Amino acid sequence: MAHAQSSRIQEFIGDPVSDSPVVDRDKMEEIFQDIQADIRYDHELNGCLNCGICTATCPAAHYYDFSPREIVQLLWTENLEGIYDAMQEKIWACAQCYTCAARCPFENSPGGLIMLMREAAIKHGMESAKNVLRPFSRVMLKLISTGNQLSPDMINAEGFPDWGPNISKVEAPLKVLRQAIPIPTLNTTATAWEVNLKTSVELYTIWEETGVLVQLETIDENLYDVILDIMDERREDLEDWEDEQDDD
Ligand code: SF4
Ligand code: SF4
Repeated sequence: MAHAQSSRIQEFIGDPVSDSPVVDRDKMEEIFQDIQADIRYDHELNGCLNCGICTATCPAAHYYDFSPREIVQLLWTENLEGIYDAMQEKIWACAQCYTCAARCPFENSPGGLIMLMREAAIKHGMESAKNVLRPFSRVMLKLISTGNQLSPDMINAEGFPDWGPNISKVEAPLKVLRQAIPIPTLNTTATAWEVNLKTSVELYTIWEETGVLVQLETIDENLYDVILDIMDERREDLEDWEDEQDDD
């Protein structure tokens, strides 16, 4: 992850100090209120001693310009500019391991609070959310349309250049290898396991009811359209299958 450097000083109140887009204070307040209104917020922020135990145990803090202590302090002191600024890059450094939550003497969950900030970044269509999620469009397509994150046929040299030459061992005769698994639902390559049509369609209802699709539309309209087409198709397939059962 590239580190954004603050290249200018704050020019006026409400002007974020990094290179993030300038927004008015009402917008910052709206974003903060969305974070604060979440039912999890009061469970995950009980106060903050500014002791730094969370940052001392945070793996991401060792590698990035990132500190959970700093994020919690911004929320605790309701520093709107700082919160908005952190949402431009810093919140995406968290690995969501929750070591911080296990260590905080106040029983805060910095990782959980960061998750709320990420959700708000998606809801408000922030560029940082779009940039972070763009490389995961294949995974999101697979996850939302089938419930599988990664399928065997996605594990190839093109998808995992960082694996180096060892990827060829996994690529090998994929179909043959999968057929050798003595569990029929795992004999597939396009999904990690065979996904029942009815299960997929039930999953689509969950995505709709929980607002996942609305969030997806905010960050990637093209992917949203593709997934809607897949959903329509699978729903029609299920209706056809049910009609066939009635006819029998
Ligand atoms: S969130 Fe908890 S561990 Fe982190 S600085 Fe605040 S009180 Fe300390
Ligand atoms: S959940 Fe995030 S902030 Fe907390 S310790 Fe893990 S990486 Fe650090």
